[in-house]
Amino acid sequence: MAEEAHSLAIDPVVQEALHKANLTERDLSAVAVTIGPGLSLCLRVGVQKARKIAGQFNLPIVGVHHMEAHALVARLIEQDLRFPFLALLISGGHNLLVLAHNLGQYTQLGTTIDDAIGEAFDKTAKWLGLDMRRSGGPAVEKLALEGDAESVKFSTPMKQHKDCNFSYAGLKTQVRLAIESKNIDFRIPISSTSCQDRKSRANIAASFQRVAVLHLEERCERAIEWALKIEPSIKHLVVSGGVASNKYVRARLDRAVKNNSLQLVCPPPSLCTDNGVMVAWTGIEHFCVGRFDPPPPADDPEDFMYDLRPRWPLGEEFAEGRSEAR
Ligand code: ATP
Ligand code: FE
Repeated sequence: MAEEAHSLAIDPVVQEALHKANLTERDLSAVAVTIGPGLSLCLRVGVQKARKIAGQFNLPIVGVHHMEAHALVARLIEQDLRFPFLALLISGGHNLLVLAHNLGQYTQLGTTIDDAIGEAFDKTAKWLGLDMRRSGGPAVEKLALEGDAESVKFSTPMKQHKDCNFSYAGLKTQVRLAIESKNIDFRIPISSTSCQDRKSRANIAASFQRVAVLHLEERCERAIEWALKIEPSIKHLVVSGGVASNKYVRARLDRAVKNNSLQLVCPPPSLCTDNGVMVAWTGIEHFCVGRFDPPPPADDPEDFMYDLRPRWPLGEEFAEGRSEAR
């Protein structure tokens, strides 16, 4: 289904982008396309289209890492953001703390050992009977404004682990148990429930959000400490990925970063959730330093073996992290 949705969308999306920019393919200097990480069936749809345009108009191709694009789009909006910097990437499938040394050069300080925070927001939204038409995160954020964040006592994940890794599976279970104990029926949408039921759903949303973000704050504080030892010149923490659109997340992380005399850089929400601008921008960055593939042949065969990277870590793991953690 995902592949079919991509195949149906790709031509109109590219056309609309060119139309809005008032350009044609002949005005382009290169084509940037995400080659990983992600579902290879979906990646292939994009790469096929990119090769088709590049072949037809004799344009070089830049293969882009989806998570690098989430991080680098911050440099489009913040001209002062120079390497090295620290980045927290929080989305539906990733929870990464990386030290960005340069283009394509990252050290991974932490990752999730199970679920990403966006997945926890989405499940919480589903179990609370919220409107999932866009995605769960914004619905939880909105409902949390009506709730008391101290009312449900969820425990913060991985307190005893002194590293920069994340875990959200346990918090998800805590949320599910809290929902069951309040006899909340997720099949009844929030719009049709009683006032009291709505209040208990809001309390769970607010309490979940508080602890989910507290986990981010604790990990960021430690990552800043580690990062300053490796790259003492860092001045910024970039927070990006879909969950970075959340106002509570931004406010709490801004506070944590200022306490450490760094500056928070958070792209606007439209550039935090998946978007084409971040891929184009990352393509520009790589293109400008000469990292691109030559134009493919105009008669590129459909079954060409593309260089897709469904599993593609963003940089090397920080080996000393384990001893630091002790
Ligand atoms: P990945 O980047 O890891 O491959 P993805 O591309 O599917 O995952 P993004 O588009 O970057 O994910 O982010 C989508 C996630 O962000 C969803 O889980 C969604 O619920 C979450 N999200 C979006 N807006 C908010 C918000 N305001 N509050 C909390 N979460 C949000
Ligand atoms: Fe994404």
